[in-house]
Amino acid sequence: MVINMTVTLSPKESSPYLYNLHRTKAFVKSFCKLDSNVQKMLDRTIRDVLLVAPFETKMLGSPELKGKRSLRRGNFRVLFVICRECRKLDAVRLNNCIDCRNRGENDIMLFVCGHRKHVYEE
Ligand SMILES: [Zn+2]
Repeated sequence: MVINMTVTLSPKESSPYLYNLHRTKAFVKSFCKLDSNVQKMLDRTIRDVLLVAPFETKMLGSPELKGKRSLRRGNFRVLFVICRECRKLDAVRLNNCIDCRNRGENDIMLFVCGHRKHVYEE
């Protein structure tokens, strides 16, 4: 079960990573819909990029996606926020970033993933 590989990381555990990942139910649902080879690919990309250098991703421009970033891998995208940035941009409510204000400096919330043609509609 690929999804558990990163879900086990908690801020309280000592981890070799700089960032902590959190997931919305919508993210888990969208992840489960993908083929297992795509899940593996995205899981690896999430760990390689988001746990280490999340700011090296694309900030989305449109007002309704304020504060959200897009991680790309092939034709797939993962939409997420870096909670510190989410708060700074005053986008917590817009993003419905649950519990954002209780999170630390290095917390990330994953919102949805999927093919680039559909992921922005969700
Ligand atoms: Zn947030």
